[in-house]
Amino acid sequence: MGQNVVKREVKKGLELYELRKLESAIDEWNKALHRLNGAGDNPTKFVILGHVCCAYFDMGKYRCIITYARKQLEVAETIEQETEACLNLSRAYERLGEYSIAEEYCKKCLSRDTKDSKWVKYAFLLYGRLYFKQCQFYKGLKNLEEAKSFEKLSDDIAFRILVNISYGQFYTFVNDMETGCMYILKCIEILETNSDSYITKKFHKSIQLELAKIHLENSRLNEALDTCENVMKDAIESRDRQLQGECLYVFAEIHRRSRSFERASPRYESAYAIFTEIGDRYGLMQVLYGMAKTTCLQQDFDQAVDLFKKTLDAAQEIGNKMYAVKCCVNLIDLCDTGSIESTQSYEQLLDDLLEQMGLYCGVCSEAIGKTKEQLDMLPCCHLIHTRCACHLARYTWGRKEKMRPCPTCRKLSSSNPML
Ligand SMILES: [Zn+2]
Ligand SMILES: [Zn+2]
Repeated sequence: MGQNVVKREVKKGLELYELRKLESAIDEWNKALHRLNGAGDNPTKFVILGHVCCAYFDMGKYRCIITYARKQLEVAETIEQETEACLNLSRAYERLGEYSIAEEYCKKCLSRDTKDSKWVKYAFLLYGRLYFKQCQFYKGLKNLEEAKSFEKLSDDIAFRILVNISYGQFYTFVNDMETGCMYILKCIEILETNSDSYITKKFHKSIQLELAKIHLENSRLNEALDTCENVMKDAIESRDRQLQGECLYVFAEIHRRSRSFERASPRYESAYAIFTEIGDRYGLMQVLYGMAKTTCLQQDFDQAVDLFKKTLDAAQEIGNKMYAVKCCVNLIDLCDTGSIESTQSYEQLLDDLLEQMGLYCGVCSEAIGKTKEQLDMLPCCHLIHTRCACHLARYTWGRKEKMRPCPTCRKLSSSNPML
């Protein structure tokens, strides 16, 4: 009797979930969980807890996920299905900016269940994302390549989209808009050929948001605004707090770049409030940086220095070196305004950070990401400027049929550029 009621509640929850009525779905599942309390049906509990985590992900309620994923892990230990629970915990901690804890859970996934490719591929993907967030790009790309090797074999559309979004975000982050855009367009293509309306609903808005960000970086502000407005409508309708925060941030950036500061500031503030609410420390760091840039443009240099310092702290707390670099560069520039006494410590920090990131082109030794430029990834996962590929080819002249070395790690590959 009780079992049947539970089954009905779980099913009702799933129907509500598909209709994107996430809160009601969670209510149904909680009812079922409550009914199962004390009963020993751990496999069912495990599945329901997984559903709840999934719904909270869609809403961007990461702290709630931690609570439910911990319960799921407890149950999982009795039925030897820890991988999924660890992955949920790892994903939630990633969004909360707790990268070292996220890494621990990711490691557990890979050590526990290396044969179950269903989850292992997600662990590699997550590892890649975690390294990117900390600007360890080489390690990030290595893991993403590992994840990508599953993509070819996989008919898991969600996974294929997530892999391509991650590449897109990576290339956009290091200022190669063309390659970044190519990956996002690939996501759109995958989504268009997909017949599962649930997948389409779930991913359409996040892919569009990435597209809006690319428009923004390419100074196509009107297109960015139009795209982002559509995403925002969707985000409000589906109660996705994460996406609402990100849209507000993009709106603020659009207005800052068109120098309408009175429109930018309240949007930064709203985004800040949402990211505080959901605990997204990466989002908070981005917003702070935008606010700092705004005050700088408004020539309020004392305030700008304060905000850049605050952003620098936030970036260092989560371990994002790229934003820390950006803050140092701005603080050093602000020296001329007299709002800052000494830049020596920032210059030192800047050198250290650049060295730690190791984001140099192996051919010309210039830092990657400083200006918009197209990049090539060698098979060993080191990056070079596309414009430098011909120099590398000339340098390895005469090795046409042979293996040619990567200038950074000397690893030989016959796929490295040739003339
Ligand atoms: Zn180069
Ligand atoms: Zn290399």
